[in-house]
Amino acid sequence: MNKFEQLGLNESLLKAIGDLGFENPSEVQEKAIPTLLEKDTDIVALAQTGTGKTAAFGFPLIQKINPENRNTQALILSPTRELCLQITNEIKLYSKYVKGLHTVAVYGGASITEQAREVKRGAQIIVATPGRMQDMINRGLVDISKIDFCILDEADEMLNMGFYDDIVSILSTSPDEKSTWLFSATMPQEVARIAKEFMRKPLEITVGTKNSGSSTVSHEFYLVNARDRYEALKRLADANPDIFSVVFCRTKRDTQAVAEKLIEDGYNAAALHGDLSQAQRDGVMKSFRNRQIQMLVATDVAARGIDVDNVTHVINYQLPDEIETYNHRSGRTGRAGKLGTSIVIITKSELRKISAIERIIKQKFEEKTIPSGIEICEIQLFHLANRIKDVEVDHEIDSYLPAIEEVMKDLTKEELIKKMVSVEFNRFINYYKKNRDLSAQSAGNDRRDSSSPRPGDNGATRYFINIGSRDNYDWMSLKDFLRDTLGLGRDDVFKVDVKEGFSFFNTAPEHAETVMDILNSFTLQGRRINVEISKNDGYDKNSGRRDHNGRGGGFSPRGGGDRSSDRNARSERRGSGESFGRSGSRDGGSRDGGSRAPRRSDGFGGGNASRSSSREKRPRRS
Ligand code: ADP
Ligand code: MG
Repeated sequence: MNKFEQLGLNESLLKAIGDLGFENPSEVQEKAIPTLLEKDTDIVALAQTGTGKTAAFGFPLIQKINPENRNTQALILSPTRELCLQITNEIKLYSKYVKGLHTVAVYGGASITEQAREVKRGAQIIVATPGRMQDMINRGLVDISKIDFCILDEADEMLNMGFYDDIVSILSTSPDEKSTWLFSATMPQEVARIAKEFMRKPLEITVGTKNSGSSTVSHEFYLVNARDRYEALKRLADANPDIFSVVFCRTKRDTQAVAEKLIEDGYNAAALHGDLSQAQRDGVMKSFRNRQIQMLVATDVAARGIDVDNVTHVINYQLPDEIETYNHRSGRTGRAGKLGTSIVIITKSELRKISAIERIIKQKFEEKTIPSGIEICEIQLFHLANRIKDVEVDHEIDSYLPAIEEVMKDLTKEELIKKMVSVEFNRFINYYKKNRDLSAQSAGNDRRDSSSPRPGDNGATRYFINIGSRDNYDWMSLKDFLRDTLGLGRDDVFKVDVKEGFSFFNTAPEHAETVMDILNSFTLQGRRINVEISKNDGYDKNSGRRDHNGRGGGFSPRGGGDRSSDRNARSERRGSGESFGRSGSRDGGSRDGGSRAPRRSDGFGGGNASRSSSREKRPRRS
């Protein structure tokens, strides 16, 4: 008997769950499903984003609905059109073996008459955004006077978006004796108020700690001068070749401006904000899901509905006005048990906000320095080497091989490797050779983790090691592993930076011999570990490459090359580290599959003013 059977779910649901590849229920599912199946109760369930709340209410709801009765029996309210469609889609997948069950999505920006028609045909479940729902009720196009269930999904976000009045008004047209299920990531006062005023003795389920951000997200900040914000953003992107990120700006204007600059500089970026038409926004989101966009620059409001798994980084290009919003931003990464990083690019005058956020998220930030040019070059170099190693060969090339071999025939293997890597690498080294460091001096030592050596503690030795996130390490676990393997003390290994297929770390120089000896003769799951001393020490300030004139230049060494194939490889590998397993992953199959198509610079549907210019200005491969 599998775990889902033990929860009391029926055959048709179990079959659908099997198709979805869900193997084990997540914690919130384990807690909510049996309770909701057994009892007619109100419930408040708090769990972080990405923990599977949709199925936690969706499964029991589907089992309790009577598909033979065509009346609307359940209303699910959700904050945005995106989420509304997502939930509808999930519910349809879950209920695909339940004959006669119809679910209809009701949301703004699409034909109201068409939606009304669908509802009229008989929809036992309506998934709606509050504004459109209110509209349909006012016009007499829907009837929720007989519903048995009302679900408030992502209640905190709905209230955050100012839907309180709509919700109250919608609920007033529904029967008193229904069950209300409230699902939320956090429990701010407005949510508590809804629970108190509109629910009867709700059971409370909490997964993880209340109000805290997701623990699969680590938080970092980078202190820079205000004028270097954009340059810092570019470096962070260059230092993370596989970045798949949401970049938050405060205003629509900044959002558009940053996106346009990134596009001009050759990044796969796009803007998402309220001045775009619905069709443009849909186009952008589609490209983002397909990973034709690696950096989605968004306002808070526009990003509310983003629930794309596998986002590697959330970047706070500017902090939000309300620090509570930080939680919503960082919740865009670290979903479905995957690890994510939330980055804040910050200036000295805003530094105190970091402690305020730490109190809210109940997690500490790590202060980091913007990677130096050398470090970025090294990262790109190893990344490139891995890409070459992992690339899938298209056999279309076979017929050209004899001719190509003829061209290369006088090169030794070593020469060939050197030249191949240089084709890409020269662009980076040329760009970064003339670039200064970006880190602003910290306001004092108060923000620094006093235990670890920092810039100024000269002479650390930095290493490159060929294990990384694909081996399921993050910086903390790698630090632990290194310390234990090397038999070093608590703070002897520092500045651990984990990339996909490799990582960097520092020790004091006197440990160098131990590090090289022990690690180079070590095997990890049958694989030889390779450690080398890196040329940079990980501290920009010591790199001796200050050149205050060589900044910017509007050119990024980034090409629009197809980095997707090894990202696919990574997301598949990463999958094994999920908190709840899924076989035959839908994500891995369809969503990521889309990115195997060659990258197109204009792949996002019309959402960007500078779309055409990006084609001209994209750095050319030389
Ligand atoms: P939340 O609403 O808590 O933010 P979702 O319901 O959107 O989370 O689920 C996040 C992702 O996890 C979705 O892609 C969903 O299909 C997947 N998922 C949900 N439950 C499971 C499970 N038991 N096993 C594997 N994947 C799951
Ligand atoms: Mg959800």
